[in-house]
Amino acid sequence: GGDGRLVIVSNRVALPDEHGSLPPGGMAIALNAALKQRGGLWMGWSGKVRAEKKQVSPTMQEANGITYALADLSDKDLDEYYYGFANRVLWPVFHCRVDLAEYNDARKSGYYRVNRLFAESLMPLHREDDVIWVQDYHLIPLGKELRERGCRNRIGFFLHIPWPPADILATVPVCEELLEALSFYDLVGFQTDDDLNNFAECLSRRNLGRLMKDRSCLVKGREFRCGVFPIGIDTAKFESLAKLATRDGDLQEVYKKTAGCDVAIGVDRLDYSKGIDQRIVAFRHFLDRNSHRVRKTLLLQITPKSRGEIPAYLALQKHIAELVGSVNGELGTIDWVPVHYTNRSHGPLELAGLYRLARVGLVTPLRDGMNLVAKEYVAAQDPSNPGVLVLSQFAGAAGKLEGAVLVNPYDPEAVAASTEKAFRMSPEERKDRWSAMKDSLIGHDVYRWCDGFLAKLEAADLPA
Ligand code: UDP
Repeated sequence: GGDGRLVIVSNRVALPDEHGSLPPGGMAIALNAALKQRGGLWMGWSGKVRAEKKQVSPTMQEANGITYALADLSDKDLDEYYYGFANRVLWPVFHCRVDLAEYNDARKSGYYRVNRLFAESLMPLHREDDVIWVQDYHLIPLGKELRERGCRNRIGFFLHIPWPPADILATVPVCEELLEALSFYDLVGFQTDDDLNNFAECLSRRNLGRLMKDRSCLVKGREFRCGVFPIGIDTAKFESLAKLATRDGDLQEVYKKTAGCDVAIGVDRLDYSKGIDQRIVAFRHFLDRNSHRVRKTLLLQITPKSRGEIPAYLALQKHIAELVGSVNGELGTIDWVPVHYTNRSHGPLELAGLYRLARVGLVTPLRDGMNLVAKEYVAAQDPSNPGVLVLSQFAGAAGKLEGAVLVNPYDPEAVAASTEKAFRMSPEERKDRWSAMKDSLIGHDVYRWCDGFLAKLEAADLPA
């Protein structure tokens, strides 16, 4: 690689707090590690709201030899760009929920306005030999905006969410602009082969370009590379957290309280892509079909609230709470609650301990770019007595976790049957399935993801 710095741009910046600890999540840790090693800059929204008229350059902050550039956004920006186009148009459509897309021109304009603002803010901050890496669906046009301002650096883009099939993408009024915008990057990375193939199909159907065998692409005379880089977790870290957790006092209490019950666990942001309500329905089927499980099994569903400003999320929140209430009301007894449901967010140590306690991990999204919870569940298991991962075929993680019991989350009886199969699985089969997955998680962790993408980006041909 070169010796230029690394510049990361994402919607939010994973900045260390006053004690120097980073927000949870392997990506924050891996990107900070890469920035620290190479020296660099991370730019994104500060999390603060500024007055509408007052546009200022980002606030600069140094920590651990890394520079953070924090841009404030106005209420209007947030409403149109973040809650609007990013999370009410791109998020639902890219997760194949066209029915939930709420496009309007103001949201589109806000999206482009904030991307221009990010480009303008970044231009004076980066140096000639920096490598720029743009993260996720919030910032698709950023590469083009930078090029139009004369930026000739290597610029890469990674999409953390799925790329949808061509006829689904076609429902976004500006989809052609979005497709073209990606051609201004040197490298465009996706989570899975399916995502890359969908992207290629979108280009070829519109006669915009074609993906070649070597994964290069030509769009309106601009050549760029594509690649598949499935994101991982900090596997070793999660493994050691899970070991630590067995000695944690609070968790020992939980272990005692659930003794005598087999536990299945679900951990998801409260989001319609996660299939939480379908999972609860399936768990009810599971209890209805397997009377010997009644009072002996429980589902621990950890569901931090998310994007509560958006009506579809509020409606889902209400729906899930009602569903849980009705299952617990109809099936529960004085001394047994079938579904333990909380909207609290838990730290990584607690999560690792709960994953390890659970005999079955239920990860059943309707569509998910990767799903890190699936990987964390596997990493946290006790090697001498591992639990079983029941995993949606529509999660990006399904491609690499061949030891999981794959399910169709739209089929409640099948999910119920797979849950029973998972609980019944012999120790030998559990160990076989688990070791294969564990090896793959060690070999493909988040550091490898980061290095793999950057190596490819630096090997990509410089823009003409
Ligand atoms: N998570 C957490 N606390 C919680 C629930 C989830 O820290 O209470 C973390 C979880 O450990 C995982 C991430 O949030 O690392 C969720 O990532 P995933 O890819 O599964 O889904 P996303 O929320 O990004 O769609």
